[in-house]
Amino acid sequence: MYYKSTRDSNVNITSAEAIVKGISDDGGLFVPSEIPSVSIDEIIRLGEMSYAERAAYIFSKYLTDFTDAEIRYCTDNAYNDKKFATDNISEISHLFDGTYVLELWHGPTCAFKDMALQILPYLLTTSAKKINIDKKIVILVATSGDTGKAALEGFADVPGTQIMVFYPEDGVSPMQKRQMTTQDGKNVAVCAVKGNFDDCQNGVKAIFTNEELKAELDAKGLMFSSANSINWGRLAPQIIYYVSAYASLVKDEEIKAGDKVNIVVPTGNFGNILAAYYAKHMGVPVNKLICASNSNKVLTDFITTGIYDRNREFYTTISPSMDILISSNLERLLYIMCGENDALIREWFGSLSKNGKYEVTDDIKAKLSEEFAAGFCDDTETKATIKRIYDKYSYTLDTHSAVAVKVYEDYRRETGDTTKTIIASTASPYKFSASVLEAIEGKVSELDEFDMIDRLAAISGYEIPQALASLKTKEIRFKDIIVKEDQKDYVMDKLSV
Ligand SMILES: *Cc1c(COP(=O)(O)O)cnc(C)c1O
Repeated sequence: MYYKSTRDSNVNITSAEAIVKGISDDGGLFVPSEIPSVSIDEIIRLGEMSYAERAAYIFSKYLTDFTDAEIRYCTDNAYNDKKFATDNISEISHLFDGTYVLELWHGPTCAFKDMALQILPYLLTTSAKKINIDKKIVILVATSGDTGKAALEGFADVPGTQIMVFYPEDGVSPMQKRQMTTQDGKNVAVCAVKGNFDDCQNGVKAIFTNEELKAELDAKGLMFSSANSINWGRLAPQIIYYVSAYASLVKDEEIKAGDKVNIVVPTGNFGNILAAYYAKHMGVPVNKLICASNSNKVLTDFITTGIYDRNREFYTTISPSMDILISSNLERLLYIMCGENDALIREWFGSLSKNGKYEVTDDIKAKLSEEFAAGFCDDTETKATIKRIYDKYSYTLDTHSAVAVKVYEDYRRETGDTTKTIIASTASPYKFSASVLEAIEGKVSELDEFDMIDRLAAISGYEIPQALASLKTKEIRFKDIIVKEDQKDYVMDKLSV
C-alpha cells in the first residue's frame, strides 16, 4: 500500500511519509492507493476484541509500512481507560426502532475528534522516527472549536512537538473557548483570529504551502505538520469506529452479520462521513450514507445538484463545528469517484479557489446520489429536535447530533427506508449546554457556563465530565487576538524564527 496525492497521481509515498507531511506539496490530499477489504468473517471476529485491538487490526491494512509492534504502541497508548471515560471507547445507545446513536464523545475533550486526535501524536512521532526525521514537528491547527482542544489535549507535552491553534474569535462556544485558552502544556499556543473558520484554515494552508518559509524552518531544525482532518493520520482512525460499531451491533445481536445499515453523519469538513465511506468500501454493509448539515448547507446542495458553490451567506449557528463552507475532505471522495483523475481534481479545486465554485460530471452526480442522501436543518429545528428526543426518549442530544437526528427523521419519512441506522453523535451535550438547556427548557438560561452544566446534569441525569467541571478554576493562559493576515507572523514569532 502506498499513498498518492489527489492532485498528482504519480506521488508515491508510504503512510509514514503521508502522515508526517500532512498535505502534499501540490496542495492535494494523500489517499491510499487502494481501499483494503474487510470480510464479514473478519468483522465478526472483531466483535470479540477490545477497541484498541480492533483499531490495530484495521490500521494494519492501511499502515502497511508500520510493524505490528509500532501499531500496538499507538493504539494501546491512545485507546485506554485513562484517556476515555468508557472501556468501550465509544458507546452505542438504542434510540428508537432500529436507530442507534454511536456516541463518539467519551474522550478527554467530550467531542468525537478525540477518537483521532488521541492517537495522531503517536502515529506522527512513530512515523517521523520511521523515516529518520529528527526535526521538531510544529503542528498548526485551524479549528471551528472541537479540533483545537482535542489536538491540544493530544499533543500537550509530547516530546519533539509544538502545537499552535487558531480559532475564529466569535465562531466557537464559550466552553470551547475556555477549554482552549486554559490548555496546559509547555509546547502549546492558542490564538483567536478576527474572521470565520475558513479564514483560519486558509491562513494555515498558506503557511503550509509557503516554500520560502519551509526552507527557513528547515534550517532551524523545524518542520510543519497538520493535525487537521486533511491529515491521513486523522482520517484513518475514524474509519475504525464505523467498522467497530458494526461489529458491536452484530455481536449484540441487534443486526445479523451481512445486514445493511444506514450511517448518518453531522458534517462539516467531510472527514467523519468520508471515513464512513471508506468503511463501506472496505466491506461494511452500508445502504446509504446520509450527510447532515446545518444552515451552512453547501454539502446538501452539492450532493443533490453536483454543483459546489461556496458563494453564499455564512451563518454562525448553534452547531459551530459544522459552520464550514469549504469541506476539504470532499476532494478525497471526488478523487476516488472520478477514477483518480488528478487533472479533473486540479480543474475543480482550482475553480473552487478562483471562483468559489465547480460542477462535477454527470457520472459523478449519479454516483453521489447512489451512495449518499443529504439534508439540512436550521437552529430552530435543531432545538425542537433536542426537545422532542428528550421528551420522548429521555435522551439528551448535543446540537450537532440533533442536526443528524432531524435530517435522518426527514429522510426516513420521505423515503420510507426503514433500514437499521447508525447516527454518529459527535459531542457531549455538556459541551453545548447553553443551547441544549434553551432547547429543553424553552428559554435562554441566565446561568453562567458552569451553573448550566449543573442544571443540565439535573435534567439529563448524565454524569458531568470531569474535564469540563475542572475548567471552572483554571487560569486563562492565552488571550491573543489577531487579524487573519497576521497568522504567519504569529507563527514566526512563537517559533522565534
Ligand atoms: C468536527 C465536528 C463535526 C464535523 O465533522 P467533519 O469531520 O468536519 O465533517 C461535527 N460535530 C462536531 C461536534 C464536531 O466537532
